[in-house]
Amino acid sequence: METSKTFFKDSPIDSPQVFMENIKQWLIDQQIISSKEQPLEFEAPNTYYGDNGYKKIIAAGDFYGKVEFITKRKEIMHTLGWDWGVDFLLPEIVCCPICKQDLIKGIDPATFYGENNLKQDPNGIRILQELRKGIPLWESNEEVHLTCHNCGTQSLLEAYEYQQSLIFTNFAIIFWNWPELKSEFKHTLLNKLGKDTLFIDL
Ligand SMILES: [Zn+2]
Repeated sequence: METSKTFFKDSPIDSPQVFMENIKQWLIDQQIISSKEQPLEFEAPNTYYGDNGYKKIIAAGDFYGKVEFITKRKEIMHTLGWDWGVDFLLPEIVCCPICKQDLIKGIDPATFYGENNLKQDPNGIRILQELRKGIPLWESNEEVHLTCHNCGTQSLLEAYEYQQSLIFTNFAIIFWNWPELKSEFKHTLLNKLGKDTLFIDL
């Protein structure tokens, strides 16, 4: 499985492209990444390999991977888990922002993926189906609302709480297949990226 260390904005930001250029240039100046973007036929857009300075930022090992910048709306758990072999990742929770109820409580993942045959709450299944359809629409910049079957309120898909089992953002930096990063570097980068930035290590 590919490993990933991801810095991401917890909520969408303005001008993610401009924001990326600043951070990317800083990483290039430090020789952490190469200034040469990898060709699109091999990699996702905005992908760069490590450069000579990579040793400055790693805590173990002696290798570097690649760095991908995401600057548009993306549910990044599906990006990070692309090789897990499912087209829809079952989130751990889907909590309504108004009544705080977990709307998929009791849904059995094995049943959901068709390996088991337990009776499931049809409301829980319905919200998962809406979410599954909603993610690509949200990624193409549409407003997607989900209706809570507990309190009846409609809220934006990204307003629901998924406890990082789904992550809706429009800015992320993914270090693919790098060894452990020095905590000093992580802090510096988190500071540079500013408030509302989180880190996930998978
Ligand atoms: Zn609710």
